[in-house]
Order: sequence, then structure tokens, then C-alpha cells
Amino acid sequence: MERYVVLSDSSEKRSTEESARNLGAHWARLGDKTVVWTVSEEWNAFVNKARRAGIYLDQAESRKLEGQLYFIIQTGRAFQDAHPEIRIVIEKGRYLVADLLPEEVRRLTEIKDDWWTVRPLAMDSVIMEIVKPVARAAVTRVKANIEAVSESTYSSYLISLVNFLTRYSLSSQYSSAAEWAANQLQSLGYQVKLHPINIGEGSSYNVVADRLGSESESRKLVLIIAHLDSINIRDGANAPAPGADDNASGAAGVLEIARVLAEHPSNHDLRLILFGGEEEGLHGSKQYVSRLPENERTRISAVINMDMVATLNTASQTVLLEGAPVSKTLMEELAGAAATYTSLIVQISKSPFGSDHVPFIDELIPAVLTIEGTDSSNINIHTANDTLDHINYGLALDIIRMNLAVALKLLDTNISGL
Ligand SMILES: [Zn+2]
Repeated sequence: MERYVVLSDSSEKRSTEESARNLGAHWARLGDKTVVWTVSEEWNAFVNKARRAGIYLDQAESRKLEGQLYFIIQTGRAFQDAHPEIRIVIEKGRYLVADLLPEEVRRLTEIKDDWWTVRPLAMDSVIMEIVKPVARAAVTRVKANIEAVSESTYSSYLISLVNFLTRYSLSSQYSSAAEWAANQLQSLGYQVKLHPINIGEGSSYNVVADRLGSESESRKLVLIIAHLDSINIRDGANAPAPGADDNASGAAGVLEIARVLAEHPSNHDLRLILFGGEEEGLHGSKQYVSRLPENERTRISAVINMDMVATLNTASQTVLLEGAPVSKTLMEELAGAAATYTSLIVQISKSPFGSDHVPFIDELIPAVLTIEGTDSSNINIHTANDTLDHINYGLALDIIRMNLAVALKLLDTNISGL
């Protein structure tokens, strides 16, 4: 039997991670919370050690573990809504630490659900961290583009998308939304194609827009992506699925970045993709990646994904960068851009799950999900309540600015210093 206690940064002068390390107990950190655990027989020794180290442990907060600690990633509150009986130890919106009995682990891992996953909790490690990137000197060319990001065009794209009432991938409204987005991108000067995709027996589309760079050879390829589709899992395929946050917010972000970059010719190739079939299991991005020709796959310098960028789940405007070791450099550049050009707080995780960055990462292509911060969850997604009145434009626009700054640096060989 083991005991655990959750330490919180706010009650400690030093970071909880440092404290846990010093105590010699096992620990795992999610943002400003760290769970620390030992076998029960060592608990008193552990507490004494903590006292000598000057670390305050609220004894009343310590608990016996019934099973073992597991790490859960969920979209919205999908896991907690489906399994309210599960004992949650740390709750950070998208990320949870739970106390699971072996039979619960068995039962949960038998369920196939696209909206949550249960994984072993990595011991003595930072699962999600709040980073404090250093702001660099702003680059004039980048700044001019950042200043061109506009709430009025962004919100007009967002409203147009929500006005299709649903963007369920197999609906006629989805086709209309895809054609509308394709027309927007075409009128901005991009070469646009609709790529057919399969979703079970049905079919849908990805919208793919290209602009070639000016270099005559060795051009890299930068991808800015979001899923265009929405879903209403509570009321079914024909029910309203406005998907304002999930994911009109990200799709409108792709259009806004496309609009600003249309004015800025670049050396490298730019590709903007709006995926279909994301909500049914990443069909659009999986099929796109599986059909990528080798000469394109190897030229991709970055894939920046926006999925749910406009709900404030945190006290201050916060972005979560979710990538993998292959996207380490890209995550650092995004964090640096956030510090330089926005007021975003940056959370970082290397446990990718549940959005269109995953099929790229699976092929070792540097991809990052940029998503609203994760201290709590957007409880409205996948329902008729994911509406415009919950949208936080300040957060969405700052995430767009961060992504635009990094895209510019990667596209334009004259820009360095980010
Ligand atoms: Zn989504």
C-alpha cells in the first residue's frame, strides 16, 4: 500500500518538483501540482525528512492509494463525464492523474474511445510544465505581420464557420463549409484542392492550399493545420454542432494566418490544411500523412496545429504546446515567439494525443498542437453549446500571433533572431 500527497506551487517557495526530488520519494509533476508518493511504511520517514527540509506537507491532504497512479489525457471532459467513479488525484483539464485498481485499468483499456486515453504514469518526471521563455528582440518584419492580425477578419471567419450550424464530416453542410473555406483561400491567391477522404463507408474532404516559395531549390515546407469538422456526440449526426471552439477557432486561425501571409511572399513553401474526419478518429490527417510523397515528407520543417484555441481555461491567457521529442526545437521556437510577441503563459507537454498533430509525430515529422491552456476543461465541446458566446478573442489572437511569428521565421530566410 502506498500513500501520496499533492503539493502545490502556490504554498511553497521552491518548486514542488525540487521538493519532491529532495525528499527521495517518487513524484510526477503537472504544471503547478506535483504528486509525491511512497510505500506506507516509509511515510513517516518521508514526512520527517520533509520537515527537516523545511517543506510543508499538509498531513490532512495525504491519502492511501487504492491502486496505482495512471496518466489520462482527455478531450474536453470526455473521460470524467464517462467515468465519474474514477478517483482523480490531479486535475488539469486535458491531463489527469488517477488512482486506478487493476480491474479498472483492465476495464478502461478494453474500451476504444477516441476522446481519452489511459497510460502508465511516468515516475519522477515532468508530465506538463509551465515554462518561462525569455523574450527576444522583436524582429521588425515579423512585428509588422503580427500587427496585421485582425480581430475583425478572424471573427468574421469564425462566425461564417459557426453559421453552417454543423460541420459534421458526412453532412452537406460540411461540404458547403469546405467549399467556402477553399474559396476564401483561393481568393487570397493560394492553389487550393479538395482531397477526398474515407470515413468508414462515407466520404469527406481535406482542404489543401499551397503557395510555392521563391527559392529555386532546396525549399522547405511549412504546414499550418486545423480540423474543419465538428460533431455533436450527445444528440447525434443531425443535431446542431456549431463547434465554435472545437474547431472553428483553429480553422479560422488558419484562414487568418493565410490572409496575413498572402501579403508576405516567402522563400520556402507554405501549405495550409483544413482536415475533415478529425472527430471520427483523425481520418483526414491520417490519410493525408499516409499519402504524403517521400520528397514532401522530408521537406517539412514544421507542422503547427491549432485545435481549440479560444476558451479561457486558466486564470491568465495560456497556451499549451503539445508535441514530442521530434518537435522539441519547434516547441522552443513557439515558446520564444509567445514571450516576444504575445502575453501568453506557456505550458509544455510531450505526450501527444487526440488531434491532427499525432499522425505527423507518428512519422517523426516535427508537429506541435497549440491549444488553450489546461487548468480546467472546455465542458461545451461536442455539444450544441460550443457557441460563439464562449469565445475569448484575446487568447485566440495571441495564439495566432505566436504561430504566425514562427511560420514567418521558417518561411523567410531573411528573418533570423527569433
Ligand atoms: Zn478538436
